[in-house]
Amino acid sequence: MANLVEWPKAMKRIRRTVEAFTAAGSTAHVVIDGRPLVSFCGNDYLGLARDPRVAAALAGASSTCGAGAGASHLISGHGREHALLEAELAEFTARERALLFSTGYMANLAAVSTLAGRGDLVLLDRLSHASLIDAALLSRARLRRYAHASAAAAAAMLGAPRGSGGALLVTDGVFSMDGDLAPVRELSALAHAHAATLVVDDAHGLGVIGATGRGTLEQLELDARAVPLLVGTLGKAFGTFGAFIAGSAELIESLIQRARTYIYTTALPQPVAAATRAALKLAQEEGWRRAHVLALTARFREAARARGIALTDSGTPIQPIILGSAEAALEASERLLASGMWVAAIRPPTVPEGASRLRITFSAAHREEEVTALVAALDRILPSGARA
Ligand code: PMP
Repeated sequence: MANLVEWPKAMKRIRRTVEAFTAAGSTAHVVIDGRPLVSFCGNDYLGLARDPRVAAALAGASSTCGAGAGASHLISGHGREHALLEAELAEFTARERALLFSTGYMANLAAVSTLAGRGDLVLLDRLSHASLIDAALLSRARLRRYAHASAAAAAAMLGAPRGSGGALLVTDGVFSMDGDLAPVRELSALAHAHAATLVVDDAHGLGVIGATGRGTLEQLELDARAVPLLVGTLGKAFGTFGAFIAGSAELIESLIQRARTYIYTTALPQPVAAATRAALKLAQEEGWRRAHVLALTARFREAARARGIALTDSGTPIQPIILGSAEAALEASERLLASGMWVAAIRPPTVPEGASRLRITFSAAHREEEVTALVAALDRILPSGARA
C-alpha cells in the first residue's frame, strides 16, 4: 500500500486557489492568498480562456442548451455544437474527420488502446506525457520507450523482430515539460518504412506554432499522410476544455465504435463546444496572439541569455530552467512567489529524477515588461548551478 499520509516536503504537491483575476481577459493575472501575482505557469498560450467573446459564446449556448449534455455521444448527448465543432476542427487540421473527447487524457487513452492491443508493440518517447504512458499500459500491448527525441533509438526498436503484431509509434509534438519538438519528420519516415502507425499528440503545439498556428505538423510541413492520427487538446491554446482526435473517416469511425473513453462517458457540455468554436475562430483571425506569445518567448530567451541564465533549446512558450533537485526547484518557485511571480516547480515523477525545474510558460496576455521583470527576478534568485 502506498503511504497516504506522509510526504517529504520537497515531493508534496499543493494546490493554490486562484481567488480572483486582476486583469480583463487574462488568466495570467491572479490573486492568491489575497496577493496579486503574475502567473507564468498556465497553458492559456493565446490568452483566450477569459476572452469575453469566448465567455459570451459559452453563456449563449448555456441559455439554449443548458449546462450538461445529459448523456454520452452514442446515446442522446451529441448535439449541434459538437457536430459543428468537429467539422471545424477537421477543417482546421486538414483531415477528413475529427472526434471530440472530454479530455486530452481520455483522447490519448482512446487513440492508443483502440489502435494497439495484446501482441502489438507501442513505442513511446521517454519524455511522453503521462496520459500516453497510461494509454500504452491500458492497451495491453508491449510498451517500449526510446531515448528522448531520438529517431535512431526508435528505429532500433522498430527494426527488432516483432512477430505478427502491429506497431504504433506515439509521440508528443511539443514536449509538455521541455517545450522542444519531436523529430516528427524522421519518425514519420520510420513509421512508413516499418508499417507502423504514427500518432502525434500536439497538445502544446496546436494554436501556437506553425505559420498559421496549425502546430508542430505545420511547422515541420507534414500532412495527414505523414501523420495519420493527430490528438489535440482544447484546454490549452484554445482556452476551453476537452480534446479531439483528427484523422481519416475510417479511423474516426473505428474510434466511435470501439474507444471506451468515447463510448462510456458523458459528452462534453455543448456550451464548452460553442465556446471552443468561438476560440478556434479567434485563434485564426487574431494572428497577433500567436505572434505576441512567440515574441515574448524570444524576448525572454534573449534577456535570460544576457544575464547568463541557462536555457534549454525550446523555441516554444514552454521554457524550463533545470535546477536538479526537487528542493532547489521548490525553493526557486517560493522565492519567485515572494517577488509576485507564480512559476510552478516541476518535480519527479512528472520529470526524471535530478531534472526538477521551473517550468515557465508565456501567454499572449502577458506584457513585455512582465517578462523583463521575470528575468530580473530569476537573476536575483537562481542558484549558481542554473547559470550558463
Ligand atoms: N497531452 C499532453 C502532451 C498534455 O500536456 C496534456 C495536459 N497536460 C494532455 C495530453 C492531457 O490533456 P487534458 O488536460 O485535456 O486531459
